[in-house]
Amino acid sequence: AGKRAFIIYAHQEPKSMNGSLKDAVVTELSSQGCQVTVSDLYAMNFEPRATRKDIVGALSNSKSFNYAAETYEAYKKGALSSDVVEEQKKVQEADLVIFQFPLYWYSVPAIMKGWIDRVLCQGFAFEPPKYFDKGSFKNKLVILSFTTAGTAEMYFKNELGGDIRYILWPIQHGVFHFCGFKILAPQISFAPEHAPEDKRKEMVTSWARRVATIWDEKPIHCISSWYFE
Ligand code: FAD
Ligand code: ZN
Repeated sequence: AGKRAFIIYAHQEPKSMNGSLKDAVVTELSSQGCQVTVSDLYAMNFEPRATRKDIVGALSNSKSFNYAAETYEAYKKGALSSDVVEEQKKVQEADLVIFQFPLYWYSVPAIMKGWIDRVLCQGFAFEPPKYFDKGSFKNKLVILSFTTAGTAEMYFKNELGGDIRYILWPIQHGVFHFCGFKILAPQISFAPEHAPEDKRKEMVTSWARRVATIWDEKPIHCISSWYFE
């Protein structure tokens, strides 16, 4: 109770497995007395492109556009576009951030990548030399909850897919640990499209059951050996 969670959700269809996983967590966390905020990226028509439009008013250098430099300046001046500012507030207020998505090409869907590119700007999400364990969000937890088409058996080191952890390195370590987040082990719902109804229901209930005690979980040790050894 009293904790705050923020779910960033990327699926087009509310009746999808991703929609059900998201709904189950909203229900569970709300019943614990947590405050839950959801950004439903497709429903919001969230802008994924990192462009000049993200800076309100004059640029620092209008001769040659540099997105990273301009958004860093805009962040400090309070001149980022309002949709980015809204998302930054939701991150700032959260103790736990959950990304719920279907795996697209070994990564997050483009709309979610765009959220990452635009919301986690310098000044807000990192400020060298404050990154990784010294990062801005060191008091926050993040968890990836995602679905796949490939089965669990495919995602082993010596199988066709390779170890699923290889995929997690750029996102968990390269994005979230970089910004200081503590990383909880991912929740992976493998191949719902190929699973029978009872298995699919179990994927949803086991995720809700895990969330019931999620505040007691210890983060993973997020260094390269967790991923590659
Ligand atoms: P859905 O099709 O919505 O769910 C499956 C079934 O579950 C549906 O029949 C739905 O009705 C049912 N369901 C929903 N809620 C419940 C419930 N509460 N109880 C019981 N049943 C329920 N996969 C990979 O493995 N690797 C990749 O690199 C990859 N790249 C992709 C790239 C693209 C561009 C695309 C489009 C797909 C890719 N995929 C990949 C596949 C993708 O990850 C899967 O299609 C997706 O994860 C399935 O999740 P879903 O929520 O869309 O499933
Ligand atoms: Zn790491």
